[in-house]
Amino acid sequence: MPPLAQRTLNVKPSPTLTLDAEVKAMKARGRKIVNLGVGEPDFETPDFIKEAAIKAVRDGFTRYTPSEGVLELREAVAAKFRRDNGLEYSPQEIVITCGGKHALYNVMQVLFGPGDEVVVPSPYWVTYPPQVHLAGAVPVTAATSGRDGYVLTPEALERAVTPRTRGVVINSPSNPTGMVYARENLLALAPVIERHGLWVISDDIYETLVYDGREFVNLPMACPELKDRTVICHGVSKTYSMTGWRIGFLAAPREVAGAVTRVQSQMTSNPCSIAQKAALAALTGPTEPMIRMRETFDARRKLILKLLKAVPGFETPAPSGAFYVFPDVTGLLGRKLAGETADTSDALASILLRECEVAAIPGSGFGAEGALRFSYAASEDEITEGLGRIAKLVAAAG
Ligand SMILES: *Cc1c(COP(=O)(O)O)cnc(C)c1O
Repeated sequence: MPPLAQRTLNVKPSPTLTLDAEVKAMKARGRKIVNLGVGEPDFETPDFIKEAAIKAVRDGFTRYTPSEGVLELREAVAAKFRRDNGLEYSPQEIVITCGGKHALYNVMQVLFGPGDEVVVPSPYWVTYPPQVHLAGAVPVTAATSGRDGYVLTPEALERAVTPRTRGVVINSPSNPTGMVYARENLLALAPVIERHGLWVISDDIYETLVYDGREFVNLPMACPELKDRTVICHGVSKTYSMTGWRIGFLAAPREVAGAVTRVQSQMTSNPCSIAQKAALAALTGPTEPMIRMRETFDARRKLILKLLKAVPGFETPAPSGAFYVFPDVTGLLGRKLAGETADTSDALASILLRECEVAAIPGSGFGAEGALRFSYAASEDEITEGLGRIAKLVAAAG
């Protein structure tokens, strides 16, 4: 067989999606796995959104749309940014994409190329480094620590910057840590971003999932003068429990939005016409179902934090956003659990899966060895059961 392109050989499959597939297969074989590895809401898409899609099909809205998405939806996205964020974007500065991940992919393709470096704060979402690689550029990690609330400090950003640096990724609320940037955190980064002339990719996908009365703030909200060097990537997947519909969107300076549209026109033509109608309903419809989902997540967050606190060896900074907790588990590494010693978070995650039938994602995939990511996009019963099994295992280890 002739060789494959080098570019694709370097791409590893998403560790989170790989684990999810494994867990689903184990469940299909009858194993009672408590899946705290998932990265998607466990709610149904609200009915009024499903109805809009059914209506789109019945109305024959089943053909190509403009590559950048239908105008009505781009207007609804612009209205969302005006209403929720106080940010003015014209529909020409909005592009609808095939999911939030695709918005990020497109932006990386348009902004970065060979020779460029992009700063990715760690722990990072698993997808950023491969997407930077696929653009031909090099991801440079800037470590953040639990002590700083996993927020990128200006000093850490400055240390990561070289003359080749073209951009930085900011994800708040964060996957995997659940941490939320405060206005002051962003204001502190602004001078460094400006001095080095960086692009900022602001991944706002978890915007609506913030708790403890915290306010969601992104870079252009904190520093309006940096709006023209920021691209906001967003989507409906997490807010409306619409992961399978594959609709994302981005807001960017017109030149960037135009370049993304050209790339997209050669790659996917347009996002699914039916899903665009569903997303339009989501963005313009009643907000009560989403408020209820957030309240449910918040109750689960409090529950999982309480249960984790009771297990020795788990040090869990309290997150204020998304649906993840990211405990430091270094206290358990090197100790005997169920007759086996886990020296890495990968090994610990496999012991938990095998001995407790609880799925969690090892920190290594997020560039943070010594931690585990638990998702609380699971019922309170599942969370209680899963953490109960882990507590038992750790207690038995003495
Ligand atoms: C889920 C997620 C996305 C986007 O997901 P899509 O399903 O592609 O819309 C983007 N960024 C982060 C950090 C995520 O967790």
